[in-house]
Amino acid sequence: MRKVYLRHDSTVSKTGNDMEIEFTLVKEDRKSWRIRLTSRSSDPYQSLMNPHLSQYGKMCHETTGTGYVCPVCNLEIDEYGYCGCGTGSS
Ligand SMILES: [Zn+2]
Repeated sequence: MRKVYLRHDSTVSKTGNDMEIEFTLVKEDRKSWRIRLTSRSSDPYQSLMNPHLSQYGKMCHETTGTGYVCPVCNLEIDEYGYCGCGTGSS
């Protein structure tokens, strides 16, 4: 069986609340490729697996709504101004 794993290399604090997180995918003890992502969260694995967390710093279920419903998709517009179809953000 081939050994493949993802290694967390570093988390560097950037300006504001952003963290720059680097991973390396290692195959058979050789570096295969690198991943660099910017996240609002300092948790590297959660940031990688959960784009919502890395973009907003919290999980989607922690996002609060505004009480306004989008007239196009009928979904509640959240605290960032987004709904299901994107009309609420414009
Ligand atoms: Zn909508």
